Amino acid sequence: MILMSLIQFKKELMKYSLGLILFSFFFLIISCSIISTERSQSNKSSKIFKANSELDNKGKYVTSVGELRTLIVYATFTDDISTKSKAWNFSKTQLPAWTKKMINSTTKLSFPNENLTQYFYEMSRGNFMLYGDIYPKVIIPKYNQKHYKSISDVNYEILTRLDDEIDYSKYDNWSKGKDGKYLDVPDGKVDVIFIVYRNFENRLFFNNGWTGSAHFYLTDDIVTNDGVKITSGRLDKGSGVQSRGGKVGFTYMKYVLAHEFGHLLFGAGHIENTTNLALMTGGPVWNASRGMHSWERSRLGWTDFEDIQLDKNTSIEIDDYMTTGNAYRIKLNDKEWFILENHQKLSKNDWAKDKGVYIFHVNNAHRFSPSVTVECADGKWDFEVDEEKQKLIKTIPNSSGKTEMNFRKTIKKKSYSCYKQVYADNSAWGDANDAYDISYNNIFSPVSNPSSQNKAKINFAIEIKERRDKKYLLDVLFNDIYINSVPSKPQIINIEQKEPTKVLLRWFPNKEPDLLRYNIYYSLNQNDKLKNFKRLKININKNKEEINLSSLLQDKGKKISVAITSFDKSGKESVMSDIIELTYNSKNKKWDWKRVEEY
Ligand SMILES: [Zn+2]
Repeated sequence: MILMSLIQFKKELMKYSLGLILFSFFFLIISCSIISTERSQSNKSSKIFKANSELDNKGKYVTSVGELRTLIVYATFTDDISTKSKAWNFSKTQLPAWTKKMINSTTKLSFPNENLTQYFYEMSRGNFMLYGDIYPKVIIPKYNQKHYKSISDVNYEILTRLDDEIDYSKYDNWSKGKDGKYLDVPDGKVDVIFIVYRNFENRLFFNNGWTGSAHFYLTDDIVTNDGVKITSGRLDKGSGVQSRGGKVGFTYMKYVLAHEFGHLLFGAGHIENTTNLALMTGGPVWNASRGMHSWERSRLGWTDFEDIQLDKNTSIEIDDYMTTGNAYRIKLNDKEWFILENHQKLSKNDWAKDKGVYIFHVNNAHRFSPSVTVECADGKWDFEVDEEKQKLIKTIPNSSGKTEMNFRKTIKKKSYSCYKQVYADNSAWGDANDAYDISYNNIFSPVSNPSSQNKAKINFAIEIKERRDKKYLLDVLFNDIYINSVPSKPQIINIEQKEPTKVLLRWFPNKEPDLLRYNIYYSLNQNDKLKNFKRLKININKNKEEINLSSLLQDKGKKISVAITSFDKSGKESVMSDIIELTYNSKNKKWDWKRVEEY
């Protein structure tokens, strides 16, 4: 088990060095852990604030049910005076106002601040409340940073010093039962304390660029005057969360602390490539832990999936995910799921970049951490790296390629993902075309891009049929899926121009068996809306994969936009393809073109 933890630790370190190269200012949040402990326990009636004592306690290293009283302590080194920060001005006496709002002081059901208490109350749908006390003064460690070997020495010093003022027994309310489940009975060990530093140097964090960690790395237990111990060398050995980066301010710190606390709930590990769509997010970009993913909430028993029956066609209505917990699951087997969440951004904890239905493909769904692919509605692609210019370019659609959220490549120690240092935009953080809706991309099938193909080899399609205010109506199809659904969005390859009168728009052929033809639409107006595009009155046979646009390109002074749709035998038409914009380049006497995803 110790070996495992070392491997985990090394993996985290590797991730860190990558992360640091990527973005030295996106802090890495990491933890490592192992081994759960068992402790004998007597039963005692619970005092859970909300009557749901039936709920299974699924927290791994901390309770996930009921109320958890904690203490938050803020600290600044005297030699941190050189660090400038508006959010936290250096002071030996004053704490910034926001520090006092990080948690609620009581279990009253009132949430004036969108803080950690509100976060976990919302995510747990009223089943868990993290509340407690904030030590009112800023703690100044006795010495400058260079005096200490590591932050664990400082943590030890602070916790020991506070023993005279703080009754630590208030923070011991839970213990782990024989079955590994938490019980609200004290066990002589403090449950969780948070120490937040304004800032400190990497050296103190064992030369790592971590922001936080779900343990204090105490080398010895602290035996307090209050009859309880503080034991926090590892995740499983009693708990403490420490973090630096207080200088960045409230919202940043809230999500860092929530993420670190998440390690106590779930264990070590991260859910990669779910930037802004989960709490336990990993790369390719950091500082992106937000409202919980439905996998996470259901793992803790805080929400339940609505399972879709696999053998029949079903119509479903899907409500806002974050505020209602409503999420549908297509459970192909224990390990492979598809999940649907409708993000309407009604909650401040919903940081999705798009509004609409997100589709997730989950593998290893039975354990933490699962592997999750956000099936971005703007498709999967081939990407190319221009090593010389150190740029990453999206080239052609490829349903077995990568999305803008999960592309990662390292060439000659340079990391490439979809963020601005190397890419046209910051789509690695998600973008406004990731969710499915009725107009941008409304179909997810075995032949669409992205496609519903899966390891379990179960054919199905999801069609977004209708929007009803904040809700969506969908069909989930297992039988006669092509007859019962619209054809998929055509995938444009490029423009090919070999002679002045031959400007070819090329696309990949649609694969629906009931395909009839393609339609072509165009606009000669600058920035015209897709719905105002005119249809060119020609029928493009289903076997065609290109069309000569030269008849449209008579006015060389104009920008011309074109898009195509696919059309099936039962008269159903797909959404529009990406738009291709053409402008005449008088220097080389050719039409320049670019792909536009949205207007
Ligand atoms: Zn982490």
